[in-house]
Amino acid sequence: MRVSVFGATGSIGESTFDLLSRRSDIRVVALTGGRNVARLAEQARALRAELAVSAHDDCYLALKEALAGTGTEVGAGTDALIEAAARPADWVMSAIVGAAGLEPGFRALAQGATLALANKESLVTAGPLLMAEAARHRARILPVDSEHSAVFQALVGEDIATVERVIITASGGPFRNWDSDALEQVTLAQAQTHPNWSMGQRITIDSASMFNKALELIETREYFGLYPDQIDTIVHPQSIIHALVGFRDGAMMAHMGAPDMRHAIGYALNWPERAELPVQRLDLAALARLDFEAPDPARFPALRLARQVMELRGHSGAAFNAAKEVALDAFIAGQIGFMDMARLVERTIDRLLPDSGLTAPVEALESVVHMDQMARQIAIRQIAAINRRAG
Ligand code: NDP
Repeated sequence: MRVSVFGATGSIGESTFDLLSRRSDIRVVALTGGRNVARLAEQARALRAELAVSAHDDCYLALKEALAGTGTEVGAGTDALIEAAARPADWVMSAIVGAAGLEPGFRALAQGATLALANKESLVTAGPLLMAEAARHRARILPVDSEHSAVFQALVGEDIATVERVIITASGGPFRNWDSDALEQVTLAQAQTHPNWSMGQRITIDSASMFNKALELIETREYFGLYPDQIDTIVHPQSIIHALVGFRDGAMMAHMGAPDMRHAIGYALNWPERAELPVQRLDLAALARLDFEAPDPARFPALRLARQVMELRGHSGAAFNAAKEVALDAFIAGQIGFMDMARLVERTIDRLLPDSGLTAPVEALESVVHMDQMARQIAIRQIAAINRRAG
């Protein structure tokens, strides 16, 4: 099987690398990374990749040097990334973080690859387009987000028309029980530590603010084609059940597993088979209990905003994601507070609601990119406004 991994040096990329390293039947076509050139070169050597690409032009020489004498081709920059995605492969992992992961995914689908989709931003910003592209090329998208992989697995052999509801679980993050005043004071150090999952910095902070769950609610709508009122989330602090599917006869199928992304990645890699995976087995007696509680959209407004986006659809997902990315950058840079992130996203959507094409159906990638850029500009202006008020 020919395999490419986009975002190989990240958290999902490393878990994918781990699983690929255990297989002898894999031919690695392309591995891509960003600034972590040393790690990308190490991975490329270990897996004898045909091509290694950094997303940044200025990383070219360092990558070339690190891979000298290996026979691995080297590329750098956006064009090289897109070209790598167009190289024929049977299975492509989409694990770049953020909207930058969108175009490589489209290119991979266009050459008929099975797309293992960790980059949830692709579905949030351009869901209908991505699904249509897959259908046009008879390519398959397999969800890698643990909740969506769980729903996908619970639906094997079922008719989607018999599904009443889907519930994706949320750990609630480190601030689950904090009150609104305390949430205003959250620091970067506090936000980038997750109680259960080991993940990249951005998704860890998004989990703490519940923006990650917001993206996942939208992703559920786009991937499974359900109505917003069929989709819900519940706080489940142990992160053992990843999702539940409720059917019209009242039965619910829950997917359980240790919080390890190699479950979902391995399922997508081996699909439609199930192969042995090096993940911890659950000890239910040791776990003893599983807890659930209703989420609180007042303290975590990202959940309320996700509902708005699920109803509006059109380009609102692209605006939501772009504003969220700007807000996250600003929080990481210490320019705004933890709760300002949701304010920034809400104001950006409010500004875009009249006359901007926010709710127009998504028909081309260009309009998604245009909305993304508009939303970023508005969000950046909002940061200045928030800072002026704070000053
Ligand atoms: P990381 O930040 O750990 O890794 C991101 C990867 O993308 C790295 O390889 C990074 O390169 C590369 N990258 C960063 N910016 C760019 C860019 N502009 N262009 C091209 N490549 C870039 O992220 P995660 O692995 O945590 O997440 C990846 C995706 O998977 C996200 O969409 C996330 O929401 C999703 N996901 C993650 C989960 C997890 O457990 N981590 C769970 C479910 C979904 P470098 O590091 O070399 O700079």
